[in-house]
Amino acid sequence: MSTFDAFVLTKSEDGEQSLDWTAFDEADLMEGDVTVDVSHTTMNYKDALALTGSSPVVRRWPMIPGIDFAGTVASSDHAGFSAGDAVVLNGWGVGETHLGGYAQKARVPGDWLIALPEAFTASQAMAIGTAGYTAALCVLALDRHGIAPGDGPILVTGATGGVGSVAVALLASAGYEVLASTGKADEHDYLRELGASEIIDREELSGPARPLAKERWAGAVDAVGSHTLANVLAGTRYGGTVAACGLAGGMDLPSSVAPFILRGVTLAGVDSVMAPLEARRDAYDLLARDLDSSALDRITETRPLSDAPGIAEQVLAGKVRGRIVFELA
Ligand code: NDP
Repeated sequence: MSTFDAFVLTKSEDGEQSLDWTAFDEADLMEGDVTVDVSHTTMNYKDALALTGSSPVVRRWPMIPGIDFAGTVASSDHAGFSAGDAVVLNGWGVGETHLGGYAQKARVPGDWLIALPEAFTASQAMAIGTAGYTAALCVLALDRHGIAPGDGPILVTGATGGVGSVAVALLASAGYEVLASTGKADEHDYLRELGASEIIDREELSGPARPLAKERWAGAVDAVGSHTLANVLAGTRYGGTVAACGLAGGMDLPSSVAPFILRGVTLAGVDSVMAPLEARRDAYDLLARDLDSSALDRITETRPLSDAPGIAEQVLAGKVRGRIVFELA
C-alpha cells in the first residue's frame, strides 16, 4: 500500500464533520489521468466554508479539501502532460466533489490542469489561487463590456480579501482610478499601497439600498453580494458594468431593476470553477502582464498547511488580509 499525508474531512452518521491530518491510500484517489506531487496550495473563502462545514461545499465523503493546488506531475497518461511538468489547478469541483489539494498528492483529469505560467513560481501561482484568477476574470469582464480607464473610477468591494486585493492591484496597474471598500479601518495604507486612490467604509454600502443613488463609479468588482451589491448597482454610472463574483456578505440581492432599465447598467456574473481553459489562459495572461510581483508579495503570507483549520475560522470572521499560501514540506 502506498500512502501520502492529507487533510481528510469525514462526516459521521449524525452529520458531524471532522477534519484529520492522516495517511491516505494512493489507491483511493479518484479517477484522473494525471497524478501530481503537490508542492503548494492555498486558502480560499470556499476552502474556509468547507473546512468549517459552515456551508455545504463538500458533496462527497470522505473529502480531501483544497480547491487549488500547484505541483509537479508524478505520472501522466494525458497527451498534454509528462512527468516533471509544473502544473496548476483551480476549481473544477476539486475539494468539493473530487479529492483536493490539501495533500501531498492529487489525481485529476489532465484537461483540468494548466501548465504553470512562465511568469510565476508554484508559490506565486497559489498566492494568486482561485481568488486572484477570479479577480482577473472580473477585470476581463469589465473590459469585455467596454469599460476603459478613461470612463471613471472602478469600485472594489471586500477590498482587503483575496479577490479584492488582486483586483485593486490589477485595476490600478491597468491605469484605472480604484475606489476600495473595506471594513478594516487599519488596512487603508495596505490598500493605498496596492493602488487604491480612495477608501470607502464598508458600512456605507452595507445597509438597504435605494433603487438609484448618486452615480459614483463606472464599474465595480463585487466580492460581497447582498445589500453591498445592491448599493454598488445603485451607484453605478450610466452604461457601467458590475462584475459580481462573491457572497462574503450574503447570497441574496435586495435590489431593483432601476439601475438596469434607467441607467443601462450591466451585471456581469463571474464563475471561476467551470470557466473554460481559454478564459483561464486569458486570466493568467492578464495576471502575468499586470500583476506586479512586489504587489503579489505584499498581499501574500506563507504558512504551514497545519495552520489551515485556524485560518479558516479567521477567514469567515473577515479577519484575514490578502492571500495565504501553504507550502507542503
Ligand atoms: P476573502 O475572505 O479573502 O475576502 C472576503 C472579504 O470580504 C473580506 O476580507 C472582507 O473585506 C469582506 N467581507 C467579509 N465579510 C463581510 C461581510 N459580512 N460584509 C461585507 N464584507 C465582508 O475571500 P475571497 O476574496 O477569496 O472571496 C470573496 C468572495 O468571492 C467569497 O464570497 C467567495 O466565495 C467568492 N468567490 C467566488 C468565486 C467565483 O468563481 N465566483 C471565486 C473566488 C471567490 P474587507 O474587510 O476589506 O471589507
